[in-house]
Amino acid sequence: MHLSFHPCRHVVLGIALFAQQQFTLGQWVFQGDSTPTWEQVVGRYKALDQQHRMARLLEIGKDDNGSPIHLFVIADGSGFTPDSVRASGKNILFINNGIHPGEPDGVDASLLLAKALMESDQYMGLLAHTAVCIVPMYNVGGSQQRSCCSRANQNGPAEYGFRGNARNLDLNRDMVKMDSRNAEALVAALRYWDPDLFIDTHTTDGADHRYTMNLLLTQDDKLEEPLKAFAQQVLVPGLYNWMDRKEILMGPYYEGVHEVPDSGLVGFNDTPRYTTGYTGLFQCIGFMSEAHMLKPFADRVNATFQLQLATLSVMNENTEALKSARAKAKAMAASPGKFAIDWKLDTAYHEEILFHGYMAGYKPSAVSKLPRLYFDRSRPRDMMVPWQDKYVPDLRVVKPSAYVIRQAWRQVIQRLEKHGVLIERYSADTVLTVEAYRIGKFETVKQPFEGHYLHYSVEAVPASIPVQLQAGDAIVRMGKETDRFVMETLEPQAPDSWFAWGFFDSVLQQKEWFSPFVFEDKAAELLAKDPALREAFDARRANDPAFAEDGWAQLYFIYQRSPYFEPGHKVYPVYRIPGL
Ligand SMILES: [Zn+2]
Repeated sequence: MHLSFHPCRHVVLGIALFAQQQFTLGQWVFQGDSTPTWEQVVGRYKALDQQHRMARLLEIGKDDNGSPIHLFVIADGSGFTPDSVRASGKNILFINNGIHPGEPDGVDASLLLAKALMESDQYMGLLAHTAVCIVPMYNVGGSQQRSCCSRANQNGPAEYGFRGNARNLDLNRDMVKMDSRNAEALVAALRYWDPDLFIDTHTTDGADHRYTMNLLLTQDDKLEEPLKAFAQQVLVPGLYNWMDRKEILMGPYYEGVHEVPDSGLVGFNDTPRYTTGYTGLFQCIGFMSEAHMLKPFADRVNATFQLQLATLSVMNENTEALKSARAKAKAMAASPGKFAIDWKLDTAYHEEILFHGYMAGYKPSAVSKLPRLYFDRSRPRDMMVPWQDKYVPDLRVVKPSAYVIRQAWRQVIQRLEKHGVLIERYSADTVLTVEAYRIGKFETVKQPFEGHYLHYSVEAVPASIPVQLQAGDAIVRMGKETDRFVMETLEPQAPDSWFAWGFFDSVLQQKEWFSPFVFEDKAAELLAKDPALREAFDARRANDPAFAEDGWAQLYFIYQRSPYFEPGHKVYPVYRIPGL
């Protein structure tokens, strides 16, 4: 589990070779140190909608505070529905801004992008094979909590919104559990538009270095092979190439192993709770643009803008290759077989890469007098550092032919439907033999995390059992492009499963107990009647001294193995029908 992971806590390493940030961007340059309010952002998109026939401002749902969340679609004559866009042969780029309103670089970059694509002869051609969907401000409630200062380490703008939404949720942890109305709106839009590429715009937290942009590509070992190949061989080189030409230093996003980069850097594992981990489950490559917090706001906006243009350029030049990679990936996701539902870092593997940083050192803190880290900006330093970014399956599970969910678990069934999964219902009462997990040991975080007590290190032991289903119980048939999402949310051992997020906690509690003084006589009877039970009981007494001294534990041992014990205790109520 990576509960401490923080997708904005980054630094980065690099490939480009520019010692200093230099913009040679021509007319389309952002200047200044202020970012508009939500009302101003919407006003500017409304004006663009009125000025340009090729664009339209739509509403996709509500923020938790009741405000509308918008989507600005630029489709250059191919209509404003995914069907009309696809019919014209175009792919779709989806850009989400303001998920963390304290990091508004993308909000301003996308305003510039929208205008440039519709008004600049230089950039208009990028729309030839691609439609662009822009969420101007996803976390409206957070954006309205403006202040100068909630990002203590950030270099501007002068005022900006707050990370939490109206319910103080981090929306970049909410994609699967979907507590917020914001997530309902974004998920609905993503499922409706089914974009081919997805960008979520951010600003880093973390150490100092010379990169203006850090690229947080979705963990590509988790993508189906054709998309991984497209990401590694086409998209990433294309993005670096563009940024190099614009003389903007970009490197991959990383987690530092220690405070200074010398000892090694690790790639980020974006599980499905994050936007980019989520889009990966639907065969859509996602990445986060992470502009470096210590660079001036205008440089960050311009770097984000250029990365958006770079993405469009790659999409424009590789339209059919991207279509084909996605189609193959969707077919692979729908096929039977064994699928990974959890990944771990391959610590045996690393590459050496060139990192463009500054000399780091320690000096006495003026506050604590203890040694403190500092970076010396007058002393740029290029160094080779170990880079670990290979993830391997930690748990693989055979895909069933279907999952069956009792209708009592309404919250889960509704979420499946909202994420675009087809739900069928039993029309009559049915007896079935299914594979059911009994939940064994698991760990739980000690403090609430995003409104939940998250479980991890879950043990689940499968057993074949008969179940009596009722008319109206749900069945999810597999063999579809949504299969990865279904498995990673319904398999209880997956790190972002709904079990992990606590949606099934009520099956973990035993409801009935016994009075020892009454059960003593029944327990003695049970032991006398059942030689196998007697044998197991005696063996436990012989081998476990604490048990042998604990009268209540001995009664409970017999109770658990008696007809009086509740059969559903810790039985996970999503069943598997084997067979694919
Ligand atoms: Zn962020």
